[in-house]
Order: sequence, then structure tokens, then C-alpha cells
Amino acid sequence: MLISVDEVKEAGLLLELEEPLTAFPVLGEIAQSGSCQFVGPVTVEVKVFLAHEMVEVEGQASVRANFTCGRCLQEFDLDISSDFVLTYCRELPHVEIVDDGDDEGAELSAEDMGLILFDGDEIDLSESIQEQLVMALPNSPVCDEKCKGLCSQCGMDLNTGTCDCPPQDINLKMAALKDFKVKKR
Ligand SMILES: [Zn+2]
Ligand SMILES: [Zn+2]
Repeated sequence: MLISVDEVKEAGLLLELEEPLTAFPVLGEIAQSGSCQFVGPVTVEVKVFLAHEMVEVEGQASVRANFTCGRCLQEFDLDISSDFVLTYCRELPHVEIVDDGDDEGAELSAEDMGLILFDGDEIDLSESIQEQLVMALPNSPVCDEKCKGLCSQCGMDLNTGTCDCPPQDINLKMAALKDFKVKKR
């Protein structure tokens, strides 16, 4: 996913990029771990413009992914997308650090400044885009916020109907009662 810096003029540049999943090894690793399957490609829409010596890339990255619902175990597709603003520069700007006595010769890294360094005339967005998408993945995916999940006793998908199992708390009370009787004997 390359941006040619020479093509970025004062007015800026609008780009729509698309890249197969094979260009994003970390997404491949996630898919292999089984947490979700990506349904490629990765698409990116960005506005690129020059700001002083820096190149600002602003836009959205998306990829479709297939998850297994944590409650009902049904598979579902979800579009993962992330809005981002990335600032690239060839060299770090000189920053005067006011020594407050706490830090010993503190030096700001590119990361501290929210900048990404690049060489030459091209910017490769792939790594940053990959990072953005990984951060946008849901931690505990559910097919729907209202998903009722499976009955813990008979395993029925409660989104499709109701089962005849007694409510769980009644069962717990009965179990407690049974223990009580055993002790009395
Ligand atoms: Zn579900
Ligand atoms: Zn049930």
C-alpha cells in the first residue's frame, strides 16, 4: 500500500487503495489463531496532504471479517473499520526539551511525537493500516447485542425459540435443598 509523495501536491490527493490479505501478515496470524477469519481485501480511502515537511494521511481502513458469536456460537460477518490520521516525516523535527530534572537526557522518539518516519519518495501504509485494523477488532464478538445465547442446560439457541428447562436459579435452590436432606440423614 504505497503512496508516492511526489504525487502529493499542495491541494492534496484523494486515494482509494485495495490490497489482498496476504500483504498483512499479522491479520494472517490472527486468522490462524482462530479468533476470526478475514474476508478480504483490505480497502483504504485516504486524503493525503503536505503539512510543512510532513505528509499527513487521513482516512479510513476497512476489512470484512467472519466471527463466531460468543453467546450463540453462530457465525456472522462484520465490517471492521477504523478512522485514522497518520503523520509521516523524513526526519524528526528538532524539539527543545525543557529539563525539569525528572528525566535524564530525555529524547523524544518518533512514537512519542506521534510521527512515523519514512525514507525515499514512497510511504508504505501497510504496517500502520494493519495496526489500525487489529485495534478495531472486537474483544468479545457477539452477533447482536440482544443475542440471547444458548440455554446452559439443553444447549438450545434461545434466539430461535424457548426451551422447557426450568430457570437456572430454581435448579440451584433445588440442589441446595438436596444437600440439606443428605446431611440430615
Ligand atoms: Zn449470537
Ligand atoms: Zn434449555
